[in-house]
Amino acid sequence: MGHRIIFALIPLILSIGLISVLPFSDASEYSQICIEKVWLENSKGKIVCVSLATADTLVERGWGTILEVHEDAPEESVMDMRYMPGDEIDFAAELTLVPQVDGGDRALTVTPVIGTPDREFSEKYVVGTEELREDEMRITFCGTGMPFPVYQQASACVIVELGNGDVFLFDLGADSIGRVNGMQIDVDKLNKVFLGHLHLDHAGDLGILWAQGGFAGRSVPLEVYGPSGPNHELGTEVFVEHTLAAGQWDLESRKVGIPTQGMSINTHEFDFSKTQVIYEENGVTITSFPAIHILDGAVSFRLDWNDLSFVFSSDTEPNKFLVENSQNVDVLIHEGFIPGQTMSDITGMPLEIAIWVSEEIHTPPDAAGVVYDMTNPRLAVLYHVILTQEVITESFELLRTTYDGPSLYGEDLVTINVTPDYIISRPTEIVKNAYPEYKSVDGEITGSEFVISEWLEDARIDWKSIKEEKLKETQ
Ligand SMILES: [Zn+2]
Ligand SMILES: [Zn+2]
Repeated sequence: MGHRIIFALIPLILSIGLISVLPFSDASEYSQICIEKVWLENSKGKIVCVSLATADTLVERGWGTILEVHEDAPEESVMDMRYMPGDEIDFAAELTLVPQVDGGDRALTVTPVIGTPDREFSEKYVVGTEELREDEMRITFCGTGMPFPVYQQASACVIVELGNGDVFLFDLGADSIGRVNGMQIDVDKLNKVFLGHLHLDHAGDLGILWAQGGFAGRSVPLEVYGPSGPNHELGTEVFVEHTLAAGQWDLESRKVGIPTQGMSINTHEFDFSKTQVIYEENGVTITSFPAIHILDGAVSFRLDWNDLSFVFSSDTEPNKFLVENSQNVDVLIHEGFIPGQTMSDITGMPLEIAIWVSEEIHTPPDAAGVVYDMTNPRLAVLYHVILTQEVITESFELLRTTYDGPSLYGEDLVTINVTPDYIISRPTEIVKNAYPEYKSVDGEITGSEFVISEWLEDARIDWKSIKEEKLKETQ
């Protein structure tokens, strides 16, 4: 990593005469990024710029007091991709960005910084180089794509890491596990999985996460939280049972040589139809509420911790449950599916089917915009997207017909750092050939003797003897 960007920038504050409380020393080279219009100061003298709605919430919670309404946008700034108070958001800059798996180096957004960071951030989040702060939430996409994984995109998957050390996986779609592993997270911490519904582009890598508990030496079971279905057979319990059943050969074979205590799953199936807390531990609350997605049995999730909040739609049509549960949330990740006509043009899918897929069982970008507009998140994130320039452009154009707030086009390996003061979106550099660090498991090897058929035994090549012979010959 060469240079670093300083995201904490100031002169606007100078212009309104608050220099005495500024936490920054050298203001001359900075300029303040303030995308909304209200300045707020907390009891420690920290100053942030937030939307009116957020300001109201924060004042209500006693976080701080409103200082001044900012009227003028500055003319220049060192940040070349952001929008300023009162500006039309200019997507021209954004639309020329290259999606990052193909080598782009910025998140697909014109608002990479929201609020006022009080520290420096490198342009990319390089895994293993940044400690998460105690008050911070870090959200990383391990998959943002479609039911057909492609090199650039795995299917749905989000990792949420919290400053208290907790880690959560929301959906674990096909092909996402390589990106998850690239995050180099302790295998024992990577054991809490929340499935929004049981489409395999949202749950398809569960079997792999389970299996790698063996060779990664996971010492704890996987804890899988997922919804009930329209009947027992279509619920999470049966899904997990069948995943384990399909993994029997895997398990039996590994048992022969390695401890397999970590290859077990505790299933927590909950009633999909209820809005209810399904997880509450260590200051973290996760709430499930119904989603509308083809059949009964789809849900969305909200996570609350340390006054920070995150909502993940998984798959859903726009619905009132999500709107009720996402008011003023910090980060709202909502699907924003490729429009039907475009889907049909790109894939050759008959138009009626494409429209059903895109606009009846999913949420196209302009519909997602309606949801964002009704919920007022600090950052709105589209996912379940396609990363071609045409689709990105069209999606943003559609989104902007209904929503004009800060938004990010989700792509694999983009990280969002969230605190009450700021939200920053950046690409992530994972370890591409990561291998899990083996945990030392006390467990025993429980498998029986290595038993294969005699004719297979007979077909073994004694390569060690052959090697020995070869070595003798060359001496
Ligand atoms: Zn999906
Ligand atoms: Zn789905």
